Amino acid sequence: MSTLIDGKALAEELRGEVGLEAAALLQRHGRAPGLAAVLVGEDAASQVYVRNKHKACQQAGLHSEVFRLPSDCPRERLLALVDLLNADPAFDGILVQLPLPAHLNEQEVLERIRPDKDVDGFHPINVGRVLAGLPGAFAPATPAGIVELLRRSGIPTAGAHVVVLGRSNIVGKPLASLLMQKGPGADATVTVCHSRSRELADHCRRADILVAAIGRARFVSADMVKEGAVVVDVGINRIEDPTAPKGSRLVGDVDFDAVAPRCRAITPVPGGVGPMTIAMLLKNTVESARRRLEGPR
Ligand code: NDP
Repeated sequence: MSTLIDGKALAEELRGEVGLEAAALLQRHGRAPGLAAVLVGEDAASQVYVRNKHKACQQAGLHSEVFRLPSDCPRERLLALVDLLNADPAFDGILVQLPLPAHLNEQEVLERIRPDKDVDGFHPINVGRVLAGLPGAFAPATPAGIVELLRRSGIPTAGAHVVVLGRSNIVGKPLASLLMQKGPGADATVTVCHSRSRELADHCRRADILVAAIGRARFVSADMVKEGAVVVDVGINRIEDPTAPKGSRLVGDVDFDAVAPRCRAITPVPGGVGPMTIAMLLKNTVESARRRLEGPR
């Protein structure tokens, strides 16, 4: 029988640790770590994500402010806000919630954020540092959360064959970067698959740890999973379900009911990777504050 990896409980544990470190910094330096979230436009999902991050910051004792701009905000106004936040000592972390309205260039905006405040880890400097395995890099919260989830669940990655489904800059690629590094929590043999991969199911069946991050509801079926594998489901897909209270519900990229009995351990959706993502964002923000206030470790 498989073990359910309780991302909610692990994230709570991590948020508790982050909260203690934030309180210690406040005591030593007279200010709490600060996160600025920039939200452009009215995208419903983005509003929910930003609200959840803001709430989580407050609960952990971080200073958090949300800066809202209208959906027709000119490029110059958004860049000027980022410049202001870059220079503001109250903020150790800046996140610009994606996606941005189509007239704005996401890459330009992400590259405007100071790398040492880029707690989302999307600036090319941090992407490069993570790939090179250099200290002091901010890794994106979702893949960093997956590494942390595996570590806290006692699932070793050293020598394991990890197959990552999906090659996005937010999940698949940075996760592969992290897991292929030398050292604790890494040392894996990594295969990355995508929509052009041939014999996808064969790759999946060779995985000791299978990570699904493709955004296709219940795509991974039981016959794609090796007996005794660990399965991490990153996907968040809303499907219609007349029996659900709102007529729809969230499912992952893995057919959970069919796959779970075969695995050693599996993450649920919701309550798996999602909560860890927010906790890692807080961890990056506190780490940024610690570096700013006390220098590198
Ligand atoms: P993207 O759409 O950016 O990337 C999807 C990746 O999956 C692409 O590399 C794509 O291949 C690949 N893919 C799509 N269809 C298939 C297929 N049929 N077979 C093989 N590969 C396929 O998505 P994200 O990485 O941003 O997100 C993935 C999922 O994770 C989504 O459901 C998203 O909601 C969720 N997510 C969850 C988070 C959390 O905190 N839990 C955080 C971020 C995302 P190609 O490159 O060839 O197009």
